[in-house]
Order: sequence, then structure tokens, then C-alpha cells
Amino acid sequence: MPVRTMPWTSAATAAAALAAALVGAGVVSASPAVAATSPTAGASCPSGTLSLRTLESGCTTSTGTVRLADGRTFAVPARGESVAALSVAAAGAEELPEVVVTNTGNSGVAVRVGEAWQGSPSAVRQAERSTLGTADTAHTADTGAATVRPSAASTKCTSKANTQNDYRWSSTVQWYYNPSGTRTTYGDDALRSAADAWTGTITSCGTTVTSSARESFVREATQAPDLTKDGGCATNNGYSVMGWGALPAGTLGVTCVWYDQNGVAREADQRYATRYSWSSTATCSGSRYDMQAVATHEWGHLYGLGHVASGTGQVMEPSGGTCATGSRTLGLGDMTGIAAKY
Ligand SMILES: [Zn+2]
Repeated sequence: MPVRTMPWTSAATAAAALAAALVGAGVVSASPAVAATSPTAGASCPSGTLSLRTLESGCTTSTGTVRLADGRTFAVPARGESVAALSVAAAGAEELPEVVVTNTGNSGVAVRVGEAWQGSPSAVRQAERSTLGTADTAHTADTGAATVRPSAASTKCTSKANTQNDYRWSSTVQWYYNPSGTRTTYGDDALRSAADAWTGTITSCGTTVTSSARESFVREATQAPDLTKDGGCATNNGYSVMGWGALPAGTLGVTCVWYDQNGVAREADQRYATRYSWSSTATCSGSRYDMQAVATHEWGHLYGLGHVASGTGQVMEPSGGTCATGSRTLGLGDMTGIAAKY
């Protein structure tokens, strides 16, 4: 696994701060489509695309679209629900920061880009309260840490690094595959193997754990995954669909997960980037991304795992190289994380 990915939190925060400063100074507007009026707390948000600045008023909506400073757009989820967007970056590319959009209903909408919550102040307080203590306590120290960082290959089976997201499935994930636009012949097989890597009895790294996570492939479908070409999440339709399409340069795949206020996941859709070359055969060669390896990472997100530091040798590192077939199998941290969650 390459370790060239930039630390995205600082870059994203700097970009957001710059964008906020520019907007504040009146140099540029966040978006030409952003409504100019400033609603009051509890009032309905204006129609059209909403900026984070508009959401700061505490306005309420169940049909709006939020545009982030980096250009990603997200359909506001139903009242009482949240949606998370989690991605994986190509080798050497900067990762899209993780995004969560939470619609509290009467208290407005809060948005987390990377680490920081923004939007309606009262929704932000609710979101911070509900996630307090879960994110940090779930982190497991990387036992592979040393003054000289060992190679990823050597820490795959010694590092227990894992992080947990705020949602979890209490039911079997029933999912569909839309092969439209596929860049590889056996994408469905690769996805099924990736989905299965996190369930039941998992043997890797010379050890075995059990996971109660469950998934079931229903059939091929013609519905598109509910994602946008900018890497955001569109309005969800109740079906978990995996498929292909446009994504921003440097992003291999994005998973959107919709969940309720108790953190129970209801739907997850995945889009894989058609701009790259992919492999889904047993042996991978050339400048291709291994579908099963990348999908295993995205399914880790789907089940509720977040990123770990680069160099830990885990599937849940934020970026993956070409033909990184080692990520078809879980590392010790991946196994620790899924067994803790399920
Ligand atoms: Zn990821």
C-alpha cells in the first residue's frame, strides 16, 4: 500500500477556511445557485441549492440540496435521518474528506466535513452530543507504531488499527448490482467476494474472528446508485445498489450510507469510478485497480468502519494502489474492528 496520500484533514480544513473567508469578504459567492435570503431558526429553508452558511440560520428542510465548498452536493436526508459519504482514493491522490449530513427535523441540518460539524448550531450540538464518546473510544491503538515505521506488509497482521463510524446494520444488507458502464468483466463476483469478506467466520493473519454482519445479493438491477458525479449522495430510494459512474479525479469509489437517529443503517449505495481501468480476475496486472480489493474497502465503510492511518497495512487505509490484491483479505485491525462492531 502506498503511503503518499496527503493528510486530508488539514488540507480540507484549510480549504474550507479559505472558502469561508472568501465568502465572508464578499470576494466570491459560495455558488451562484445559493439562495440569497437568510431564513430564521425553525423556518423553512429557501428552495434551491443550500450553502452551509444558509444552514447556519437553523432553517428546516426535507427536500433541499446542500453544496459543500469542494463542490460536492448532497440531497438532505429525510427528517431524523443522516447520510454518510465515504470514499477511497487512488494511489497518490488526495482523499475526499468524509461527509455526514444529519437532518434533525425541527432543529435544522448539520454537516460534518472531515472532523468538524457545521450548519444549524442546535443541530450541530445534537450531532456532537450523539457522537461524543463513540468515535474516540472506538479507536484502537496501532500496535505496529515504532520510531521507524515498518512497511505496511509487515504490520498487516500485527496492527490492531481500526475506527468505527456512527452507524451499524441490525438487519441483513439486501443489495443489487447494476453492471451498466462496468469497466471489468467480473465486477459482480468481485463485489460478492468483497461483501462476504466481513461476515461470518473470518480467517486471516493466522487467526479467526466471527462477525454477525450479514449481506445478501438479491439480483442485478437497472436502478442507478443514489450518488452524484461530484462524489456526493443523492436522494435515496430504499434500495441498496452498487454500480458504476463518474466520480472526481483521484477517487476510486464512494459509499453512501443512510441511517436513522439511533444509528441503524437502512440503505447503502456504492459507485465505482468509470474513469479508471479495473481488474476482476484472479491475477491483476498492469495499471489497473483490483475491483475486489477496492470493493472490500468500500464494504468496510458500508458495515460501519472508518479509515485508519496509512502504513498500518489495513484494508481501511484511505488510499489504494494499482493491483493491491493484498487488500482482498483483512488485516488484524480490520478483523478487530468488524468483530467489535458485530
Ligand atoms: Zn475509504
